[in-house]
Order: sequence, then structure tokens, then C-alpha cells
Amino acid sequence: MSSCLFCSIVSGDVPAKIIRDDERTLAFRDINPQAPVHVLVIPKDHHANLSEASTDPELLAAMARTAHEVAIDEGIATSGFRVVFNTGPDAGQTVFHVHAHLLGGRGLGWPPG
Ligand code: AMP
Ligand code: ZN
Repeated sequence: MSSCLFCSIVSGDVPAKIIRDDERTLAFRDINPQAPVHVLVIPKDHHANLSEASTDPELLAAMARTAHEVAIDEGIATSGFRVVFNTGPDAGQTVFHVHAHLLGGRGLGWPPG
């Protein structure tokens, strides 16, 4: 989708701080970090949200694997991290290309805001 911001990051038309790139997924730093580690993990294929992506369980497994590998690389796999899929208006989703927020590097409150 040419009008999609994260598709434009996948194609290289929009720059991003990419830290992991494999066959199916891309991980890059969030432009407005909410924690010392705040990375977005996306599929290279366009799916609007988790509901659409859930039809492809292998894709979700690839995203989970990438999130875990980034957590190891960032040194937060043991201290702990959170993976969030904001989906729809109540969750505040603003970019409609499914993405997992990987957050860590500080204590994370629960429940979230
Ligand atoms: P959400 O509100 O769950 O849809 O999350 C979208 C996230 O994308 C937000 O945390 C934004 O800070 C982040 N974001 C928006 N534009 C960019 C960009 N160009 N590069 C990296 N992260 C971005
Ligand atoms: Zn897209």
C-alpha cells in the first residue's frame, strides 16, 4: 500500500532506525519512545491490524520471534519486557499497518493507561 507509512519504511522510501530485518519482519525504533527500549516489530506484508494478521499464524510466530531476538539484543530479555498490539480506537491505534510495540528497560506499570 503506497499510502501506508510502515509499507513506506519497508520499501525504504521513509527512513527508520532499523535494527532487525529478516524475510518476513522488520524491527525499528519508535520515533517517540515511551521507554528506554521502544521498538516496533512489523510484518513486511500489509495487514491493517492484529485481527487481519491473525489469519496467518506463521506470521505472528515470526513477529514473536523477532520481538524476542530484539529483546535479547537490547539486553532486556531477562529483566523483562512488554509486547503490545494496539488495535482499534479504544486502544489508540494510529498506524494501520499491524505492529507490535516492544517496550522495556524500566519498570512498566500495570494496568496500562
Ligand atoms: P499505535 O499508536 O499503536 O498505532 O503506534 C504507532 C507508533 O508508531 C507510535 O508509537 C509512533 O510513535 C510510531 N511512529 C509513527 N511514525 C513513525 C516513524 N516514522 N518511525 C518510527 N515510528 C513511528
Ligand atoms: Zn502497510
